[in-house]
Amino acid sequence: MSLPPPERPPLRPTRLEVDLAAIRHNVQVLRRAAGTAAMCAVVKADGYGHGAADVARAALEAGASHLAVALVEEGEALRDAGLDAPILLLSEPAPIAADRILDADLVPTVYTVAFGDALDAAVRRRRVDSVPIHLCVDTGMGRVGAPMDDVDALLDRVARWQVDVEGLWTHLARADEPEESTTAEQLARFAQVRQRAADRGITPRLLHAANSAGTLLHPDAALDLVRCGIAVYGLSPSPDQRAAGFGLRQALRVVTSVSFAKRVRAGTAISYGHTWRAPADGWVATVPAGYADGVPRLVSNRVDVLYDGARRPLVGRVTMDQSMIWCGDTQPRTGDEVVLLGAQQEAFITVDEWADAVGTISYEIACGISARVPRIAYG
Ligand SMILES: *Cc1c(COP(=O)(O)O)cnc(C)c1O
Repeated sequence: MSLPPPERPPLRPTRLEVDLAAIRHNVQVLRRAAGTAAMCAVVKADGYGHGAADVARAALEAGASHLAVALVEEGEALRDAGLDAPILLLSEPAPIAADRILDADLVPTVYTVAFGDALDAAVRRRRVDSVPIHLCVDTGMGRVGAPMDDVDALLDRVARWQVDVEGLWTHLARADEPEESTTAEQLARFAQVRQRAADRGITPRLLHAANSAGTLLHPDAALDLVRCGIAVYGLSPSPDQRAAGFGLRQALRVVTSVSFAKRVRAGTAISYGHTWRAPADGWVATVPAGYADGVPRLVSNRVDVLYDGARRPLVGRVTMDQSMIWCGDTQPRTGDEVVLLGAQQEAFITVDEWADAVGTISYEIACGISARVPRIAYG
């Protein structure tokens, strides 16, 4: 999200800091893993919550050649921010969006005849020579993409369109589970599709299949281009694969500060439902960050935060705007920094810790940091 005008800076200390040097480092790690394949940085959902334009710029600086987004609006926002790299749309919008795709010079993914026809009509109406497209086939993901049985009909239709089939891609369902045979099966089906396209004289320059897990765990999936999202941010592509093990660096920190401190007696109950009581006389700090900011209510009593370089438990229920921390004998001072995610001195809280605590994946935690939290990119 964009920051408020300078005359009205945020008064609340809660913010999301993004280390662009970490983004560049992660892109380099992924490029090494991808071998000769080009690198597409996936910055949908506002760069997985990190701020799409800043991440996109850093990724391109580090050698990414393409960007990818889920929505036309996300592509338009990148153009408005001055990014001029190729931007791939990962899903088909409604046919009515065809003109907006051409206006913003986005590269659409096509997997239905209806959408391809709409795009072709817009191209002809505007008397454009041709437009680059990527075809998407479903080799086993089961989400979008032309089903294997419909591939021939789609390929036959392509000949009628005024388009340049620059890319052909598929998406892997279980790339984060290297022991599963699914990835090999999907790649074999993808090779068949490539052959059926070649039989019709369609020879896309960019074949692609790998997401972050595919890039890091399946060298044979890299093909001509890899589409990496989560690993660009230094987060793990799977609960079983830790990001640090690949040499990735978590780029985000969620930082706030003590807004209120009090000394309580042993047994004092904290927050809604009184789910936690002080185990001894000691100090409780309040921080102005809650579930409206993306601190999941389910982390209540299950995660630590960092204060004064040490781990402290987050206690009592997370509320909409505020959360509490048990500091024991350490007296918290109002205004002192509290880190919810990321580093403070030698200590570190990973996004995976929150994901594990609430039974989800790093992706959902990162995307869940709400628009109310200002993004500050540095490095
Ligand atoms: C989101 C997405 C990606 C990126 O996946 P990661 O697991 O975040 O690397 C790649 N391809 C498609 C089609 C996607 O939707």
